[in-house]
Amino acid sequence: MTSRAPYLSIVVPVFNEEENLPELLGRLAKVLDGLGKPYEVVLVNDGSRDRSLQLLKEAAAVDPHLVVVDFNRNYGQHAAVFAGFETSRGEIVVTLDADLQNPPEEIGKLVAMMERGFDVVGSVRQQRKDPLFRKIASRIINKVTSSVTGVQLSDYGCMLRAYRREVVKTLCSSKEISTFIPVLADMFAGRVTEVPVAHAERSRGQSKYSVWKLVKLQFDLMTSFSLLPLRTTMVVGFATSILAMAAALVLIAGRLIKGPEWAVSGTFTLFSAAFFFMGIILFGLGLLGEYVGRIYQEVRRRPRFVIRQVIHVSSPDRDKA
Ligand code: UDP
Ligand code: MG
Repeated sequence: MTSRAPYLSIVVPVFNEEENLPELLGRLAKVLDGLGKPYEVVLVNDGSRDRSLQLLKEAAAVDPHLVVVDFNRNYGQHAAVFAGFETSRGEIVVTLDADLQNPPEEIGKLVAMMERGFDVVGSVRQQRKDPLFRKIASRIINKVTSSVTGVQLSDYGCMLRAYRREVVKTLCSSKEISTFIPVLADMFAGRVTEVPVAHAERSRGQSKYSVWKLVKLQFDLMTSFSLLPLRTTMVVGFATSILAMAAALVLIAGRLIKGPEWAVSGTFTLFSAAFFFMGIILFGLGLLGEYVGRIYQEVRRRPRFVIRQVIHVSSPDRDKA
């Protein structure tokens, strides 16, 4: 049997999603069979500690469309999607969350848009069904991200997106340690568009993102895509030193005109100024450390993830690769 490369690849990161998998696989099969194009579904098990892997194995044993990539531990959603990209072979690659918040039924819409010649099709969640806190956090993240990275996207968090093979290839060849796929893809893609998609509540299981994980992701995003934080520190440092010089002039003038007693009453001003600078210096140092740490990470060239096994109904084609 020589299986040709499928036209469409769906990439799904899976982390402790045992409750959602049966419904996800069922709905995906229905939608994809309906599209009538050759397809594959690449499911990446990101070190799940529940029965996810077992469920995936069972499903892949009977369905030749399924390919399961199994990590040796949890590496995070974006690493999982990268592994899925590397394994996928389709001309069009669609990423999707496993928790059914992005309905698989919307895949057709994205594919139709791709066929109109776009390189990347993003999606914007209509009536987003997430806790209020998450929505506000996302709004801030979207604003900051688009101004820092210069990539105009209205919904970075939505992972229901479609990519053309060339874009996926370019993404796979950027071997950075931490990368945020939607932003990276849009930097490389020529024609990008967005379509509105429905959004559902997470019906089972919990969100895998804590507040801390979100903060970390945003920090990653800011420092791995732009040097703006570094430049801002420089500008702030420069401006404050000018201000400090002005303040010193005022103090000297006061002392000359009003005598030494006046200057003594300025002691506390000096103290506060000194503390202010210490703060700035610490901030700058921390930021510098962040970049240095990042360089350190990059030069080590560690693999982004370790794949333990790839499971699929054997096809000589893929086995060779
Ligand atoms: N996910 C993953 N590894 C992680 C965290 C999440 O593979 O470390 C997967 C998760 O299984 C889901 C998707 O990434 O398919 C999005 O996660 P989640 O729904 O928890 O995020 P939220 O919708 O809260 O942003
Ligand atoms: Mg979710």
